[in-house]
Amino acid sequence: MDRMQSPEPSRRNRRVVVVGGGVAGSLIAKNLQFVADVTLIDPKEYFEIPWASLRSMVEPSFGDRSVINHGDYLTNGRVITSRAIKITDTEVLTSEGRFIAYDYLIIATGHDDPAPLTKTDKLGEYEAELQKIKSAQSILIIGGGPVGVELAGEIAADFPEKKITLVHRGSRLLEFIGPKASDKTLNWLRSKGVEVKLDQSVDLKSITSSSDGTRTYTTSERESISADCHFLCTGKPVASEWLKHTILKDNLDQEGMLIVDQHMRVKGRDNMFAIGDITNVREIKQGYLAQKHALVAAKNLKLLMEGGTESKMAVYEPRSAKTIVSLGRRDAVAQFSYTTIIGLVPGLIKSRDLFVGKTRKLMGLKPDIEYS
Ligand SMILES: Cc1cc2nc3c(=O)[nH]c(=O)nc-3n(C[C@H](O)[C@H](O)[C@H](O)COP(=O)(O)OP(=O)(O)OC[C@H]3O[C@@H](n4cnc5c(N)ncnc54)[C@H](O)[C@@H]3O)c2cc1C
Repeated sequence: MDRMQSPEPSRRNRRVVVVGGGVAGSLIAKNLQFVADVTLIDPKEYFEIPWASLRSMVEPSFGDRSVINHGDYLTNGRVITSRAIKITDTEVLTSEGRFIAYDYLIIATGHDDPAPLTKTDKLGEYEAELQKIKSAQSILIIGGGPVGVELAGEIAADFPEKKITLVHRGSRLLEFIGPKASDKTLNWLRSKGVEVKLDQSVDLKSITSSSDGTRTYTTSERESISADCHFLCTGKPVASEWLKHTILKDNLDQEGMLIVDQHMRVKGRDNMFAIGDITNVREIKQGYLAQKHALVAAKNLKLLMEGGTESKMAVYEPRSAKTIVSLGRRDAVAQFSYTTIIGLVPGLIKSRDLFVGKTRKLMGLKPDIEYS
């Protein structure tokens, strides 16, 4: 086992270890890198903007801007490409046996979604997915949450000749937002020729293949669906399994979320913060909220490192749902506090660039890549 000890920290150079380089973890690492000795632990070499990933499946070059090597924004910190498997009061243990000492720990492991190691491999994965779409005449999408709906929208917009079937276990699409948004989305998808089946699930063990390569899928209602391929767009588990045998086992709630206080600290732990989807904050799990968690935690951590008192710490207020789900390159459905709209107007806000330029700017990068 390899113990990584930074020199004894000065007040302005405390060892901050961030576990998880997704939306929240990468932003806080970037924000703290010039005021602390920052180490980011993530199993892949890059941060990916998740809400751009479905466009990258139909246009892999889109991923050039939305898959960002950690080294591009973390110029004054260290990246350890590994998985955290355990923590103690003073150290994080990684899967290949390194101990990383910390003064402050930030846990931002979000959802578990195995991904390729390098940006090149990730872009290669998108190329393979595009080929899969192109070579299929009929496509089954399993899951009618935001991921399934956005993928159906991308494929329907770019490949209108494909036969798309979307099967969703729930009684309406996009159950995380209001019924009006669900109805409008259902109508939009149907207007593009997408067949939507609600209140059904697909058992992937039931697939049978015919000699021409067409597969038959059977739903829980015993309906048969013929499709050349499928995409599984069901929710991913919260990545807190690794904490269940650590000092934080009692800080997890029944759903495996880390319990935080109003300052985004792990409840009862003075030097540990948790941010993003892993937290038990009562609000929908959204990237723009994960970014807000990161900014509040960064502010509080800076205050603590400067010797500030708890009474001065910033408070995070959970937000009400404000969501835009893109529907291809032009349209979107948006739920704001008082209204739900669908079509070009919300599409203008999100669907062309999918907030990629905006997110890159937040990470201190140019919105566009200049190719020489
Ligand atoms: C396809 C898709 C579309 C979305 N669209 C939107 C949208 O339009 N708007 C919006 O606001 N939100 C959207 N979301 C939700 C948003 O992406 C999440 O809320 C956000 O990613 C949460 O950020 P996070 O940092 O908590 O977790 P994540 O972004 O999930 O990052 C977690 C990181 O932790 C790493 N990790 C996991 N386990 C370990 C471990 N043991 N050790 C080290 N690292 C680990 C992972 O590799 C990953 O890098 C979308 C999500 C998806 C998947």
